[in-house]
Amino acid sequence: MKEIKHYINGQYVGSVSGKLFNNVNPANGKVISKVHEAGREEVDAAVQAAKAALSGPWGKLTVDQRSAILHKVAAGINARFDEFLEAECLDTGKPKSMASHIDIPRGAANFSVFADMVKNVPAESFEMSTPDGTGAINYAVRRPKGVIGVISPWNLPLLLMTWKVGPALACGNTVVVKPSEETPTTTALLGEVMKEAGVPDGVFNVVHGFGGDSAGAFLTEHPLVDGFTFTGETRTGEVIMKSAAKGIRDISLELGGKNAGLVFADCDMDKAIEGTLRSAFVNCGQVCLGTERVYVERSIFDEFVARLKVGAEELRVGPPDDPNANMGPLVSLRHREKVLSYYQKAVDDGATVITGGGVPDMPNEFAGGAWVQPTIWTGLADDSAVVTDEIFGPCCHIRPFDTEEEAIELANSLPYGLASAIWSENITRAHRVAGQVDAGIVWVNSWFLRDLRTSFGGSKQSGIGREGGVHSLEFYTEMKNICIKL
Ligand code: NAD
Repeated sequence: MKEIKHYINGQYVGSVSGKLFNNVNPANGKVISKVHEAGREEVDAAVQAAKAALSGPWGKLTVDQRSAILHKVAAGINARFDEFLEAECLDTGKPKSMASHIDIPRGAANFSVFADMVKNVPAESFEMSTPDGTGAINYAVRRPKGVIGVISPWNLPLLLMTWKVGPALACGNTVVVKPSEETPTTTALLGEVMKEAGVPDGVFNVVHGFGGDSAGAFLTEHPLVDGFTFTGETRTGEVIMKSAAKGIRDISLELGGKNAGLVFADCDMDKAIEGTLRSAFVNCGQVCLGTERVYVERSIFDEFVARLKVGAEELRVGPPDDPNANMGPLVSLRHREKVLSYYQKAVDDGATVITGGGVPDMPNEFAGGAWVQPTIWTGLADDSAVVTDEIFGPCCHIRPFDTEEEAIELANSLPYGLASAIWSENITRAHRVAGQVDAGIVWVNSWFLRDLRTSFGGSKQSGIGREGGVHSLEFYTEMKNICIKL
């Protein structure tokens, strides 16, 4: 059986403790590989390697040289596209048709986009007057922040990890990555690509393991890490924030959401149905930006519910290799337990189950997989946990509203503020509502569409800070102000 090792200082190494954990294929419940679990010793070795590499050859490269290497990393991922695709789909169970369009290409683009962007960072420079009349030149330069701890989730493993590693390296930092224990393979594979691309040893390091009392916590507790970038659940973000406070380390947190879709009677119904279907069910509902709360203007409520039901029932649930599958399994049986507990809670709370609510019949070879049905409910109270908690499964609750003010109030009623989608053909309304919804990103008549140069992040309990474009470059650098008296 294949073993997945840490990647430290340019070498694949196992854990001294010999502790291994299973990496399971969620489509059939079978063990794909054994993964080494890092103890404090491996995490320390990775952080020390990253610290040393800051002042090694990596620290001496010009921006152009770093950029050229990162383009080679992007090319390296593309050259091994099928290998990355196979690994990502085995770990997550997601359809290859999706991962080949989103996960792997974006994984490569996260290097090439930031490799270009870092060459065009605007500079600050001012001529100033001085009391003696000689004047001064005051300018600021950006320096790498140092060693960045990258902790990433399992839902879009390569995409979300490289979204952080790409800009961090482009800015001259070094990284220690702790991928999710559910999806270690593509991050492990990236070590080979880094080596082939000429990234010096120690610049990119990977340690595997779990969160609390394991590799994740050991990394956030390590005093030599200069900043943390984390994507995952809000509660985990709180824990990481506490660790980062020790030593006053900077953090960027991309956290959970319970996103609202607002569907107005003046929408283009076809677009609203298509967009809501994607936002609720793509990646088996395991997208932080997905819509789990749908609010629909009362005059079109019945039609919307009926059409969304038809769309959900047309979705094909199947394994990664099925070219017609729209949805794979959830990431694990453990996560399925959580999702199914909400399916049950919805019934207990008096929901009308419009469709789904259970486990689909799958052929024998997939019987051990983490499958669930796409599910739609109506009729729940606003304070039901099904409506207030992030479920992170293929499901949504639909509720009617009567006025624009009510729709905005409902959208803003939870402590999350990650994303929102507005469906309306009235451009004035769209601007007005977009301005009032508390969310880091608001889509109008679309979903999941974003130029990588723009900001990304959540408000309220959905995160701290923004990444994307110049905002990533801000997080991954420190400004140094230099003033020269003439
Ligand atoms: P999670 O918080 O359970 O785990 C994320 C990562 O943190 C994993 O690598 C895990 O091992 C690690 N971790 C867990 N506890 C830790 C600790 N105490 N110290 C250090 N590391 C720890 O999240 P998940 O279940 O992997 O991912 C799903 C969550 O991620 C959802 O809430 C989703 O909304 C969120 N998410 C947010 C965004 C965003 O951009 N805002 C994007 C994707 C996913």
